Amino acid sequence: MNAKTNYVDIETRQYFHQANLVYMSTLAADLIIIPIIFFTGSMVSFYGNIIGFIIALLAVYLNKKKKYGLSAFLFILTITALGVVQVLLFGLNSGFMYYFFNMSVLIVYTKWRPSLKLVGVITQVVLFVLTFIYAINNPPFYPLAMGWLIFFHILNFVLNITGVANSAYYYIRIANDAQKTLSTLASTDYLTGVNNRVAFDTFMQEKKALFDKNKRTFGLLMIDVDHFKKINDTYGHGCGDDVLVDIATQLKEERGNQDFIARYGGEEFVYVIDAFQANTVRQVAERLRKKVENHTFKYQKQEIKLTISIGGIFVNKTCHNTLDGWIECADKHLYQAKDDGRNRVIIGETTDAS
Ligand code: GH3
Ligand code: MG
Ligand code: MG
Repeated sequence: MNAKTNYVDIETRQYFHQANLVYMSTLAADLIIIPIIFFTGSMVSFYGNIIGFIIALLAVYLNKKKKYGLSAFLFILTITALGVVQVLLFGLNSGFMYYFFNMSVLIVYTKWRPSLKLVGVITQVVLFVLTFIYAINNPPFYPLAMGWLIFFHILNFVLNITGVANSAYYYIRIANDAQKTLSTLASTDYLTGVNNRVAFDTFMQEKKALFDKNKRTFGLLMIDVDHFKKINDTYGHGCGDDVLVDIATQLKEERGNQDFIARYGGEEFVYVIDAFQANTVRQVAERLRKKVENHTFKYQKQEIKLTISIGGIFVNKTCHNTLDGWIECADKHLYQAKDDGRNRVIIGETTDAS
């Protein structure tokens, strides 16, 4: 998963899936309503709704072709026209004026420019007012029996309320998912997919709070790739990037349920392990070091061998260091490991350093 795909997914859902759902529901509802209208005997309404059905089909097609604005325009125009015609045909009691309300909401959800949306909503209001004034002053062109009026009024009310509520619900879901995606992106390293520095800082603050409260001991490892600059210089930056992704994968493969991995920056990673003893931390660090040492990195058919140096601390019961102090201490051990010749592990205990 990367940022770009997620962004496109949200846009597709917002402008494609939601509109598609509206058009498809309209087609499904039409299949039931059109035969019923046929029984009322109003051929104007019958043929009007058949045209509406065809345009909804066209809207589905245009929407698939990513013509979001145009498909919405044709659909909204048709439903609005059918609203006007049917209020004039059957009168206000038929409930066809609810479509003005529904379409006004739908306009807000389109991909149109804000000024066009405003024009669209104003048009709906004007059309409603004109139709309303006309219908209240004139008898319907095609009067329906009371039973039909009650039937259509309830049907139109239910369809429109369902439509509006569904769109609102759909958008709330998109917003919630977008929020989740953003928070994942904000805490994920774009290149390697492990946690980033922000996530590490948050995690460590929680870890510190737990330590202060329950003296929950743990190990903190700073992992640095040895002579990484050489990889970039020899094989190029693209290779360096691929190697970093692969190293993150190697580390993830060793990760236990409670372990936490983050990219600290550049070619440095941090690894946090729950542990009761310094030895456990050393063993885990040693396992990580060996895993990378034994792994063969591949880039465009080239085989590359790499090592890592690890400096760390076991944050133990007697420790009263600060968060920054712990990191500094782990860093110091990392430099020691580098100075001692690289490809090695040096773990201290917080009491050693304080
Ligand atoms: P040492 O063994 O002392 O750690 O040597 P080193 O070469 O690994 O360390 P140095 O700090 O000199 O170089 C680290 C290099 O990592 C420099 C920088 O260009 C490279 N680097 C940092 N971030 C990235 C990245 O995201 N992608 C790539 N390809 N290279 C990166
Ligand atoms: Mg470094
Ligand atoms: Mg390095």
